[in-house]
Amino acid sequence: MRIASTKSICEIYAESEHEKVVLWSDPTCGYRGIIAIHSTALGPAVGGTRFWDYGCDKVASLDALRLSRGMSYKNALAGLPFGGGKAVIIGNSRTGSRAEIFRAHGKFVESLGGAFITAEDVGTTPADMVLVRQQTRHVAGLPDKSGDPSPMTALGVFQAMLACAKYRWGSATLNGIKVAIQGCGNTGYHLARELYNAGAELIVCDVNEERARRVANEFEAGTVPPQEIFGVDADVFAPCALGGVINDITIPQLKVEIIVGSANNQLLEDSHGTALAELNILYAPDCVANSGGVINGCRELLGWEQSETMQRIVGIYDRMLALLNLAEDQGLPPHKTADRLARELIAGTANKHMDGHGAVAQLSRRVLRSVY
Ligand code: NAD
Repeated sequence: MRIASTKSICEIYAESEHEKVVLWSDPTCGYRGIIAIHSTALGPAVGGTRFWDYGCDKVASLDALRLSRGMSYKNALAGLPFGGGKAVIIGNSRTGSRAEIFRAHGKFVESLGGAFITAEDVGTTPADMVLVRQQTRHVAGLPDKSGDPSPMTALGVFQAMLACAKYRWGSATLNGIKVAIQGCGNTGYHLARELYNAGAELIVCDVNEERARRVANEFEAGTVPPQEIFGVDADVFAPCALGGVINDITIPQLKVEIIVGSANNQLLEDSHGTALAELNILYAPDCVANSGGVINGCRELLGWEQSETMQRIVGIYDRMLALLNLAEDQGLPPHKTADRLARELIAGTANKHMDGHGAVAQLSRRVLRSVY
């Protein structure tokens, strides 16, 4: 979905192929939120709640649309019985009454009657989800349940990086590999720990200097200022901050052979994935690489045992490797193969529901089996 910024929000919604986009406000506490439901074809739409000071409502809307579509693809490619959605709360997360804001958000989620299930994301915490839970049961990531998904997301990214190393270099380990990590927050920190334990060499950055220093001290990482991370002479670049960081400005700076990280929507535009392929830089689709968090949530959402969750997160290695090989067979960049497969999986189930024959659903199951 390429969205020209000159279009109105209504035009953008009309073109976005989302099932539903809902706005909600509660003037008594200054709450303003958007929930975008991209698809419920495979099950209820699952996706986090982002609390961010967007500065512009249109940017917030675009973020909700892109992130919710990404969740649909992520859940489909992970073989989970969920559709995709995303909530954004517009505002400064350091001002206002957090309790009132998240109770208002809980009412908003409840109003959708279970079509959308949320959890924490950038700017929100498991403690916030406790407040949401006071208003709705359609929330996961509670502290006494599956909790903070970040360590499991990072483990999944680590597995995806191992798969990329195997595909690119035939290497079974990351020992001695130099990795540049952008962002030392929840996922970046845990990814750094996994990589350090695996013998990788680390260069990190964060706009929050304290976070970068912590990783430097604990994992013997070098640091660079945030604007220099793209040009670091490393083997792998791991974007673990925000989306859109692979773009016209950053691509010419890259010296790495592989990009794999936790951030959602790393490619600013689809064309940037193609540009990476032309430069022979292997891009691991983020919707597969960072699926460990939502898989972890299945302990809470689907009652999975910890062992099953771990098996599926470690299985990101096989899924990524299979996807890279499939992309090569199809002669497509990996991000295009991932998008195509996700759309087939979603459309397959949608068609089954519509026509009752299940032919396309069978096809998508075959694709799923052969790929995963
Ligand atoms: P976080 O907020 O804990 O960490 C992000 C870090 O990036 C922060 O420390 C922030 O200061 C830093 N940062 C922001 N802009 C930066 C810049 N320009 N340069 C350098 N550092 C910058 O978030 P997180 O939970 O680690 O998530 C990171 C990304 O991974 C997000 O895109 C999120 O949507 C995605 N993701 C997270 C999870 C999860 O389990 N937490 C799961 C899937 C996807």
